[in-house]
Order: sequence, then structure tokens, then C-alpha cells
Amino acid sequence: MSRLKRVAILGSTGSIGQSALAVVDAYPDRLQVVGLAAGANIDRLAEQARRYRPRVVAMATGEAADRLRRSGLPPDTAIAGTGRDGLVAVASHPDVDVVLCASSGTEGLEASLAAIEHRKTIALANKEILVMAGGIVTDAARRRGVPILPVDSEHNAIHQCLHGRGREEVKRLVLTASGGPFRGLSAAALSAVSPEDALRHPTWRMGRKITIDSATLMNKGLEVIEAHWLFGVRRDRIDVIVHPQSVVHSMVELTDGSVIAQLGVTDMRMPIQYAFSYPERWPGLLAPLDLARAGRLEFHAPDLEAFPCLSLAYRALDAERSLPVVLNAANEVAVDCFLEGRIGFTGIPQVIAAAMDAHAPAEVATIAQVRSVDAWARAFSLDAARGVQSQSKAQR
Ligand code: MG
Repeated sequence: MSRLKRVAILGSTGSIGQSALAVVDAYPDRLQVVGLAAGANIDRLAEQARRYRPRVVAMATGEAADRLRRSGLPPDTAIAGTGRDGLVAVASHPDVDVVLCASSGTEGLEASLAAIEHRKTIALANKEILVMAGGIVTDAARRRGVPILPVDSEHNAIHQCLHGRGREEVKRLVLTASGGPFRGLSAAALSAVSPEDALRHPTWRMGRKITIDSATLMNKGLEVIEAHWLFGVRRDRIDVIVHPQSVVHSMVELTDGSVIAQLGVTDMRMPIQYAFSYPERWPGLLAPLDLARAGRLEFHAPDLEAFPCLSLAYRALDAERSLPVVLNAANEVAVDCFLEGRIGFTGIPQVIAAAMDAHAPAEVATIAQVRSVDAWARAFSLDAARGVQSQSKAQR
């Protein structure tokens, strides 16, 4: 019988957070929630707090925390703080064993580092953290002897495929990509798609930002960078293949040519459970994968001309240093602008490329340096988005 693991969930009201709580529900004798952090969804966090009675909770703003307090928290649940400090307090709480980092965007960076410093096991669902500060975070984890267990389905698959293998056995990693809702469209057709079209993902149900990233293939680009840091594999040994059915979650090619793949249903409860149970395996919660019903599995090369975001990510990884920070920040700004209808879909890579072109890569050895490059890239990209917008108006 395994020891009770006490978990903190950063981003508990989001899609990953809710799936994680479903795993907790299935294993009440093995998992206990001691910390929850959310952005602005007060009602859902209040409901979660009443149900799981965590020691600490946190919200993004003081106003949200006040409303949460008034909504009636259990007597033994404290509000640990707000904003990044709140996330840090939840992640480093002394009772926590495992921190699931599933807050969106880059807010959770300091909290992930704090969790590592306090020797918590990291279950990482937030790839932006490794894209921004992969060197800093993985160095800290190595120094503290802290495992980073990937929850992102592709990296979770690779973690399983690599299990027990020496580095010298591995030739390359192959990340699968669903291709998103616009697979097969030309660059011209892509310029006319709407945010509603982009939010309709064919195989995975996820938050808005990552769904747009899946449509542009930037999600896969960020995952290439994430894989580089998680597994210490060079960029030229990380490939992407489009696999619309999302049944094969990713693969590892070994030096003798053997390819090991991990397959499963498309449900995030599976990789979350793996990260919570590791190094054990617990009985599955989901209906087993039915390959006969899955039918034909297809694989093809990504269309880099129609989806330039993937190439931009490889370019950022080649330059390393601060360029991935710029890529990530510019992408967040461009995705927001697209969702608000201020730029078109093909404006997203234009904004990112403009920011990358304008930036001279520099060393980023501290979080302060990361945050400073991030702030510059956000301001630049907002301006660049205005330029892209007036350009497309002039063309109409
Ligand atoms: Mg993924």
C-alpha cells in the first residue's frame, strides 16, 4: 500500500486542475489536497475548498481573495496570499509533497522554483515555464535532486518510453501533433479563419490559449523546447509528426532503429495519474483504449509553410538564451490579440517573428533577467500587433 501523497494544485479551476481533482476523487486513500490556487474563478475555487478542505488557497488578486473569504471558506483553510506570492506560498507549504503546476501562462514560474527549492516533486503541466526558464528550472531541480514529472501528454509519453533506458540508447524523440482544426488548410485560407473556428479542437478539450496554440502549431513548437529541457536532448534529435487521431501520444527512436511508442485515450486524467502515482502504477480510471474502434492511424510531416510557428520555435531553441522568452511572450500577446479580433490568424506568427527579429539574444541566468526580457517582448509585440492590424486593414 502506497504512502499518502499530499498535493498542491496551481491552476485548480482550469481544465488540468479539474482533471487532477477527478484523479484525487478516485484515490482518496492515496492522494490528499493540501493547497489550491486559482486565477479569478472564485465560485469554483470556493466550491473546491469546501469539498477538499485544503490547508491553503490563493487567488490572483486581492479583490478575488476578499470575495473568496466572504463566500465562506472552511474554518481550517487559510488564504496564503495573492498573485505570484500566493502561488509561491501554496507551492512551498510544508505539508505539500507534490506540486501540480497547471496555472496558465508564465505566472507560475517563481512558484515552480520555490517548490523545487523546498524539494517538492513537480508534476509539470505548464510548458511555458520551461520555455521561459528551462535552464534555470532544470538546473535547480538537478541541484536539489527533485524530479520533474511531465504531465503534458507528449512528454508524459516520452517519459514512459525512456523509462529505464540509458541516454546512449536514444537516437531521437518524435512528438506527435494532432495538427489542430486547420490541418490541410493553405496559408491563404488560414488568413480568414475566426477565433471560434480556432477554438474547435478536434481531439483534445483544453483551455483557450493552448487551443489556439494547437491551431497554429505553436503548441508543438513550445513542446519541442520543453522536450529539450526535460530530457536533455539536442534540437536536431527532436522531431514532430502530425498524427490527427492523437492515439500515439509520442515516440522514442532507439539507436538500433526500434521505435517505442506510448498509446492511450485522449484524456488528461491519464498523464496526471501517472505523475501522481510515479514510480508506481495505479489501476486506470478510464475506459481502455479500443484500437479496433480507433480505426486508421495516420502520420504525415507538418506543413511548415502554412504553420510557420513551429519553425519559429526551432529557431528560438537554436539561439537559446533569451530568444525562447521572446517567442513565448510574443505568442501570448499575439494569441490574446487574435482572440480579441484585433489581428487575423496569420498575424500571430507575423507578430512573433517581428519580436524575434528585433531582439538581440542575451544571457538569461536569473528570473529577474527572464522577467525583463519578457516585459520588453510583451510591449514590443503589442506595438507590432497594431502594425499587423493596420496592414491587414489597408489590404482590405
Ligand atoms: Mg501536449
